[in-house]
Amino acid sequence: MMESKEKEYITSVGEGIYSINTGDWRINEPVLDQEKCKKCGLCFLYCPVFCIEKKDDYYEINYDYCKGCGICARECKSGAIKMVEKGSSSYAKN
Ligand code: SF4
Ligand code: SF4
Repeated sequence: MMESKEKEYITSVGEGIYSINTGDWRINEPVLDQEKCKKCGLCFLYCPVFCIEKKDDYYEINYDYCKGCGICARECKSGAIKMVEKGSSSYAKN
């Protein structure tokens, strides 16, 4: 009973965030250069909405949920992620 009542008023961060398409909010968006990527996983760890997905041997940004905060680009030590104006890259779905 308590659990369902909590769900009416409070959503956990993960559950709440994924029910909202946070990709609608962004002004700028990250572009990941696979050639420069060292596969260290820092962007994956630091993304606050967990929208960088680990594939078999590379990382991919899920633009449905990327809110364009730029943390991934800031944390990437290889310069593999650049922030660009939304819509200016063919990589990102807008
Ligand atoms: S932080 Fe940079 S180098 Fe590391 S996985 Fe992400 S894009 Fe690749
Ligand atoms: S800009 Fe980077 S860190 Fe921020 S939400 Fe998008 S993928 Fe995640």
